[in-house]
Amino acid sequence: KSGKAIHLEDLPQVMFHMPLCMFRLMKRLEQNHHLKHGARLQLGLFLKGCGLSMEESVHFWKTEFSKGGISSDKFDKEYAYAIRHHYGKEGKRASYTPYSCMKIIQQRPSAHEEHGCPFRELNSNSLDNLLQTYGIQDAECRASIVQKAQEGHFQVACGLTMQMKKLGRLTVSEGTASTEESDSHSITTHPNHYFFESLARKE
Ligand code: SF4
Repeated sequence: KSGKAIHLEDLPQVMFHMPLCMFRLMKRLEQNHHLKHGARLQLGLFLKGCGLSMEESVHFWKTEFSKGGISSDKFDKEYAYAIRHHYGKEGKRASYTPYSCMKIIQQRPSAHEEHGCPFRELNSNSLDNLLQTYGIQDAECRASIVQKAQEGHFQVACGLTMQMKKLGRLTVSEGTASTEESDSHSITTHPNHYFFESLARKE
């Protein structure tokens, strides 16, 4: 299932429709103007799956990195190749597909890296903070998501996050009732599916 492709100029408006694993990296990039290799790969392939062309991707990363002091020359030498590679324009010319949730969850980044699935990688405090930044204002809603994550149900916690965002104004009991009804639909399997579904729900 795929939705309408998004382009570079759409990114600021659609950030909150990205799943938490990608939202976290977008925020970090916004703050640090840099991401480590694993994070660049995870986010870069996701953005490709959202519809960004290779030229748009190069422009996107170059602009962000330049804010952090990476010169155009250094960027072209050290980073542009990898982006073209993901689009199958370099090396073996294999085109890389965006990672599924299983693939992301199975990665175990080290403490100073930020890729992977935040429902698995973050402690409850950090996850709670991130969910708040993401727009889940109700503390009880956040607590129920954090609990699912701590029980090891990462993809359920992710699906619940999308529902809680949508149900933002309802009480937690109403939210819980309706998520139980549609539990089978609430498991996230792919970040790009999450993204297009969240965008479609907005309309
Ligand atoms: Fe990302 Fe999937 Fe984890 Fe959700 S469950 S945060 S989409 S890896």
